Amino acid sequence: MYKINSLQRINKVFLDIFFPESCICCSKFGEIVCYDCREEIKKEKADSENIRNINWVRAYLSYKNEKLKKVLFSIKYHYLRSASKYLAKIVYEDFYDFLKDKLSFYVGQELIIIPIPISKKRLIERSYNQTEILIKEIIREIKEEENLDLEKNIYIDLLIKNKHTIKFAETHSPTEREALIKEAFTVNQKYDKDFLENKIIIVFDDITTTGSTFYEARNTLIASGAKRENIFGYAVAH
Ligand SMILES: [Zn+2]
Repeated sequence: MYKINSLQRINKVFLDIFFPESCICCSKFGEIVCYDCREEIKKEKADSENIRNINWVRAYLSYKNEKLKKVLFSIKYHYLRSASKYLAKIVYEDFYDFLKDKLSFYVGQELIIIPIPISKKRLIERSYNQTEILIKEIIREIKEEENLDLEKNIYIDLLIKNKHTIKFAETHSPTEREALIKEAFTVNQKYDKDFLENKIIIVFDDITTTGSTFYEARNTLIASGAKRENIFGYAVAH
């Protein structure tokens, strides 16, 4: 359903260049995600009851919101990379508050932000990792609005996804998802054990359903020297 071939992709790029932008949520002329739709998306928060057992993970917005779903899908499956800039505008304040809270508690410790990686196969297919471009846009927004530059704190090559999992957001039960993601990650050899030891680590993902990706990432990081209590997760949507 979400497959797109290279011709369609070139066509999309062509359309982006020669035809003016309109909102992917309401078709209003102007921005890819208009101000009104951004405000509407912001209002529907994630139902924290569902993830209350994972107190080290924050999920901000509700994935039940149809407009947010559209924006996330556009970035992930329709190669609309530029929509991430608008999603960052929706998310950056909450992410900034989340960071401030962690940093005030762990004064003096170095912060590392890790976007959940995708497999090599998926990277070739999609040409970019959506969590990576999204976190970069969020950090750019924080730099512009809050005058805090965290660009050097993003580590895109620290966690590697070596297992190619199929797109499982809607298609599998929680137990199946857990099995699929198991041992999917490794830590890049260039970072030795001491590197992760005293860092505050934020693992960033676009969507979390059960938190199994976060658990797997955390287990991998702990096995490579990170402290369990120093690892947190942040998801845009749940
Ligand atoms: Zn709109």
